[in-house]
Amino acid sequence: MAAFKRIVILTGAGLSAESGLATFRDKDGIWSKYDISEVATPEAFARDPAKVHDFYNQRRRGLRLAAPNTAHLALARLEREFPGQVTIVTQNIDPLHEAAGSQRLIHMHGELLKALCAHCDARHPWHDDLSTEVACPSCGRAGGMRPDVVWFGEMPYRMDEIYDLLAQADLFASIGTSGTVYPAAGFVREALTAGAHTVELNLEPSEGTSLFAEKIHGPATQVVPQWVERLLANAR
Ligand SMILES: [Zn+2]
Repeated sequence: MAAFKRIVILTGAGLSAESGLATFRDKDGIWSKYDISEVATPEAFARDPAKVHDFYNQRRRGLRLAAPNTAHLALARLEREFPGQVTIVTQNIDPLHEAAGSQRLIHMHGELLKALCAHCDARHPWHDDLSTEVACPSCGRAGGMRPDVVWFGEMPYRMDEIYDLLAQADLFASIGTSGTVYPAAGFVREALTAGAHTVELNLEPSEGTSLFAEKIHGPATQVVPQWVERLLANAR
């Protein structure tokens, strides 16, 4: 294995599934029980904010019982011990990477534990339920507080930074993602263009599995710690 210097790791719901957080796109996932257009779009929020708040309040409460698993912990260890740059770009809105100790972390789809004020654009850490009555701690106005998550039809966060990282990466790993949601599903092509080695770690082959040079299939809590161990052993 080559000596890598810049690793970019894309993570998705499959990583947090083993922490007890439901995935969105599996056949028993959240989107099999809810209609995206009713709970996860700017239009839905404009039409029925209470319904959207209820949906995200349930997700936020669900975090109380969730803890990082061995895969999250292994990725935090990789960042600490690898003699190069390790950046995690996550599609997950849960806080399990940071709870595991990861620091170079980009939440491209936002964070469930933050609220965003539509009136003044202020962001605040948020652990309680949101409602249309909640006032913004910055501007004092009510009615504009929303979960700081990227809804369908909105632009994911920090994309320029992510594409710069991909253009410089020599190893790109995709962990626990369905490979169906763009722009994240296109990151592997960016990494290949940059000449990076590419590896998919997923429970089963994803939609984009044929694009990856290396594929490791199995539960994240098994395959991710083994992969991290191998990367660290080869770096010594
Ligand atoms: Zn405000």
